[in-house]
Amino acid sequence: MNTQSNPPEPSFRESVDMMFNRAVALMDLAPGLEEKIRVCNATYTVRFGVRLRGDIHTFTGYRSVHSEHMEPVKGGLRFAPSVHQDEVEALAALMTYKCALVEAPFGGSKGGLRINPRDWEDHELELITRRFAYELIKRDLINPAQNVPAPDMGTGEREMAWIADQFKRMNTTDINGAACVTGKPTNAGGIAGRVEATGRGVQYALQEFFRHPEDIAMANLSGSLKGKRVIVQGLGNVGYHAAKFLSEEDGSLITGIIERDGALHDERGLNVEAVREWILKHGGVAGYPDANHHMDGGALLEEDCDILIPAALEGVINLSNADRIKAPLIIEAANGPITAGADDILRDNGCVIIPDMYANAGGVTVSYFEWVKNLSHIRFGRMQRRAEESRHQLVIDELERLSADKDLGWELSPNFKDRYLRGAGELELVRSGLDDTMRAAYQAMRQVWHARSDVQDLRTAAYLVSIRKVADSYRAKGL
Ligand code: NAD
Repeated sequence: MNTQSNPPEPSFRESVDMMFNRAVALMDLAPGLEEKIRVCNATYTVRFGVRLRGDIHTFTGYRSVHSEHMEPVKGGLRFAPSVHQDEVEALAALMTYKCALVEAPFGGSKGGLRINPRDWEDHELELITRRFAYELIKRDLINPAQNVPAPDMGTGEREMAWIADQFKRMNTTDINGAACVTGKPTNAGGIAGRVEATGRGVQYALQEFFRHPEDIAMANLSGSLKGKRVIVQGLGNVGYHAAKFLSEEDGSLITGIIERDGALHDERGLNVEAVREWILKHGGVAGYPDANHHMDGGALLEEDCDILIPAALEGVINLSNADRIKAPLIIEAANGPITAGADDILRDNGCVIIPDMYANAGGVTVSYFEWVKNLSHIRFGRMQRRAEESRHQLVIDELERLSADKDLGWELSPNFKDRYLRGAGELELVRSGLDDTMRAAYQAMRQVWHARSDVQDLRTAAYLVSIRKVADSYRAKGL
């Protein structure tokens, strides 16, 4: 996403490197280690043919491994016409820092296939996905112990199920085959809560931010998430779940939704479910009856709001529009939505940015839980749930016995029994693990942000925390 501005906009990968360099300048890494961490270890490019509609079509795909300080390496597979090597490498680098920040024990990787999924029928996409997976599997670029993909833009549960099945066909005796990819449907080895995980993580990140009055004040905001006006770009997997949870559970108002074909705006708050249904049915937001429609969707990024959530693609806030962004708080649900140059401008203008490597880490966190579940071959909570419920039953019995004594004059609140008796199932455990992860990672970042006078922003703080962890892993390996 380039502009005519001067100086020229750096590419996505250059932006990631510039942000990395800004952080390592504040560190005292061993000579040469900085370069070792920054560079991408390897990128594999594959071109393969698939016979479709009577012709052979050639597709180009990539799998990039940024860092193997921990293995397996982890990172999504993106299906989009814009996929190219630099983008995949930038995304792989972000995965390294993201996993380190949230303490998911993986190195960083990413993959992509240059394709517009809308151009193909479902059965054709299956053939293409399986063939791409075959090419990666036979080189161990998909493997439960070495490289574990997940969904990203243009892919979801369906593609992950095809990939897992392809791996099992090629590795019939591998009992851990299902762990070769995460983001699978629950009936094919997936985990409850994975589909919502990245958007849920965005919600937990904002909830944690709003627990710290000092941080809220840095963004010139006050109060809680309730009533905050939120604009979301991209109502796909991440944007939809983030907007849904913020509006339904935290009382925020989704005042703007930006999609490919324009934007919807309503200061009273949009009905996220209704907009999502409209998009699924009509392919875009145009024609949605209950809000103002703007053809120039990007312009809504500049609209007045409290929180801006870019959740579509990279480079959307750049040198051409950064100066006009009014949101005092931006949470990067997408990867790389703010270029390095725009980041400087926004920070100078006092905007607080919750950086991508933290904000969208919910996906990889729950992917980590799914991978563990696959390797342990048992659903989370299966052993404990009923035991927990019977212990709670003891407490309830005792409380009921006491409340039967009218002389004591107290009784159980309505619903207490039901709520207390219910043991945690997989979904509750996944959400609890995700919430804990998002809180702990935010606290690690903000501690650096507030404790060091040379750290002005959360992104630099996030890099400092994660690069330190990667460096420590390399040191432990003797490098
Ligand atoms: P998705 O394909 O489900 O959704 C993307 C949405 O953005 C779609 O609704 C699409 O129509 C919209 N969009 C595309 N181009 C647009 C444009 N120019 N303007 C406005 N809207 C546009 O993808 P996703 O999985 O939600 O991923 C979105 C972002 O989040 C990506 O940057 C991805 O790397 C990042 N991310 C995703 C996950 C995950 O678990 N899916 C995890 C971490 C990060």
